[in-house]
Amino acid sequence: MKILWFCIPAFGHTNPTIEVVRELKRRGHEVFYYSFEMFREKIEGTGAEFISIESFLPSIDAMSEERIRNTSTTEMSVVSFEITAALDPFLEKEVQRIEPDLVISDSACFWGKLTAEKYHLPMICSTTTFAFNQYSAKYTKYSLRELGDMIFGLPKVNRAVKKLEPLGYHVKSTLDLIQNKPDTDTIVYTSRKFQPCSETFDETHYCFVGPSVKKTEPEDKTGRKPFVYISLGTVIISHPEFYRHCIEALKDENIDVLISCGTSFDRSSIGQLPENITVEPYVNQMEVLAKSNLFLTHCGMNSASEGLYMGVPELLYPFTGEQQAVARRVYETGAGRMLSRQEANDPETLRNVILEALKDPALKAGAEAMREDFLSCSGPKGAADFIESRIS
Ligand code: UDP
Repeated sequence: MKILWFCIPAFGHTNPTIEVVRELKRRGHEVFYYSFEMFREKIEGTGAEFISIESFLPSIDAMSEERIRNTSTTEMSVVSFEITAALDPFLEKEVQRIEPDLVISDSACFWGKLTAEKYHLPMICSTTTFAFNQYSAKYTKYSLRELGDMIFGLPKVNRAVKKLEPLGYHVKSTLDLIQNKPDTDTIVYTSRKFQPCSETFDETHYCFVGPSVKKTEPEDKTGRKPFVYISLGTVIISHPEFYRHCIEALKDENIDVLISCGTSFDRSSIGQLPENITVEPYVNQMEVLAKSNLFLTHCGMNSASEGLYMGVPELLYPFTGEQQAVARRVYETGAGRMLSRQEANDPETLRNVILEALKDPALKAGAEAMREDFLSCSGPKGAADFIESRIS
């Protein structure tokens, strides 16, 4: 089988697909993976053909770049439509050259979905977030900033959509394009148990394969100091005040702390660190989670899932609407406790919340139950079986 695979330039969306691609290659399928230079090595490592579409990225001004960094849906949509338009002649030739049997597209990858539609190719949607339909979308609580961005950005998005019409791409709305459809075959990289409103996604079209994480065993943590890991992920990176509060809260405690602060944060701005606290721009998160007793997370889908996979209770500190949805689900499973802005802004309260969470047996039991659930999922093999079952 010949598969065209499309994904957006984001670690959180690309990483979960890697083991599935490797499994498909192992089974003798041809995979042509359209992606960006930063993922070349990873993708080539699976044996798939990496095809760079880096040169189709539009040049954007500093203001748009800043908006994208602040996860502006408007800016991301406009850029995605521009990439779709720029890719059009190239992908037309690729479809002719390869004559694919199937397109697999990330749920947020406009050009992947629209290419499948334009050339009437069967498509499977690869969903690295929760699957979102009219029911599960209620878990997403957008901030006023996000809502304002979407409402006031509508004319700009509509202009970008109009430009696609003459090229043969018909977009009803960004929401319609992004939303998971009931009759589209879809792989979701989480479990049915963790997915909100999972009963609204049928067994025929939806395959929940569990989080795609590197198999890692949790360490034995008995008889040593508790270890707290703090990370706000790789996208939201500028929160120096928050890191300072964490350091202030935990500096005199009998706890080891590791903060992953992101690559664009100037660590020297924090000054001298207490002996029990380390700040790194980027860490091997699974290795760190293996020794963690508590994970203070921004609730990116990957981070939250990795924490649960390792049976680590979580303090939930979401920023975006999507992270709110993840936080709410973790909370509902009993594996996490919400951390409010107010609590996070006061070092003394923050210290108490962290100390209580470390001692809470219910949180630990909740996290252990989620680990069991994730371990029982079908993983990349299940995803490959599902893909094969669609084309025969
Ligand atoms: N990550 C990592 N080391 C770090 C910080 C993050 O390996 O120091 C990885 C993490 O394991 C996860 C991904 O980066 O797989 C972050 O994805 P997520 O969806 O959690 O959040 P995002 O960064 O997209 O907001």
